[in-house]
Amino acid sequence: MDIYVLIKQVPGTSNVKMDEETGTMIRTDTENVINPLDENALQAAFDLRSGFAGSESSPRVVAVSMGPRPAMGALREALAMGADAAVLLCDKAFAGSDTIATAEALAAGIRHQAGITPGQPLPDDTLIICGERATDGETGQVGPMIAALLGLPVSTYVRRIETVERGGELSLLVERIVEDGFERVRLALPALVTVVKDINQPGFPTLAGKIAAKNADVPVLGPAELGIDPAIVGLGGSPTRVIKVFRPKFSRDTRLHTYDNSGKAVGALVEFLGERGIGLN
Ligand SMILES: Cc1cc2nc3c(=O)[nH]c(=O)nc-3n(C[C@H](O)[C@H](O)[C@H](O)COP(=O)(O)OP(=O)(O)OC[C@H]3O[C@@H](n4cnc5c(N)ncnc54)[C@H](O)[C@@H]3O)c2cc1C
Repeated sequence: MDIYVLIKQVPGTSNVKMDEETGTMIRTDTENVINPLDENALQAAFDLRSGFAGSESSPRVVAVSMGPRPAMGALREALAMGADAAVLLCDKAFAGSDTIATAEALAAGIRHQAGITPGQPLPDDTLIICGERATDGETGQVGPMIAALLGLPVSTYVRRIETVERGGELSLLVERIVEDGFERVRLALPALVTVVKDINQPGFPTLAGKIAAKNADVPVLGPAELGIDPAIVGLGGSPTRVIKVFRPKFSRDTRLHTYDNSGKAVGALVEFLGERGIGLN
């Protein structure tokens, strides 16, 4: 079984700067971290893997990220936490990708790792786990879009995952949060799930994990290696157009009145409200 965990590197600060000219995020000079829900996705994969401990069909957990070179840091962190392998999709052709172009690249990355070409199905024992949303873009679209591109069933807002084996066939039983409670859904594999924070408490990298991660070979792939047309990714492959990005400017009309007694202050306040049609009866 292969479990692909999608890891997005996001700014580790709420002070995100935007390039108002291009409408894109300025990702240099900010400290970057793994998108917090992707750590939950990783932990969910590790928990499933530990259910197969000692078995020949123990899943291989592969961390996949698309992003600029520094995203390698997020992948090494994922390896240090326990991922078995990682792959970075990085090329200038990917720059400016919107959610659909991001999903195209990530779907191609998964196909490449699974050794299949577009149109071929993923092996039955494949699971893809994403965070429900990323803290920067926050659309929650990438996971379901990848599922659509790969023709997979998808379950979102998942807070619990179990594998079920029946007649030698593996499927998933998941619990997903809905407005008034939760739903239990059975999913045939291959499938994609997006997870919420309630699913688990992510672990920490170990020292041995950090050492192994430092020396691990992480392939860096672009459109040529993935066998995709560069025109379907990056700004050119992104139907979304950011017309304008700006910081909202708050302008408040503040007047300060000072009175030497509260009677005058209340009178002035009543007059002020009256001028705005807010009368006292
Ligand atoms: C016109 C346009 C131009 C853009 N240009 C740029 C740009 O130049 N540079 C830039 O960095 N962003 C750019 N973006 C933002 C980019 O589209 C989003 O960051 C990206 O599509 C992911 O969307 P999201 O953050 O909403 O992810 P969500 O859908 O909220 O993420 C859900 C989950 O999907 C997975 N995921 C999402 N993105 C990735 C990823 N890259 N790698 C691995 N897993 C992932 C993670 O598991 C994550 O938890 C642009 C967006 C638009 C609309």
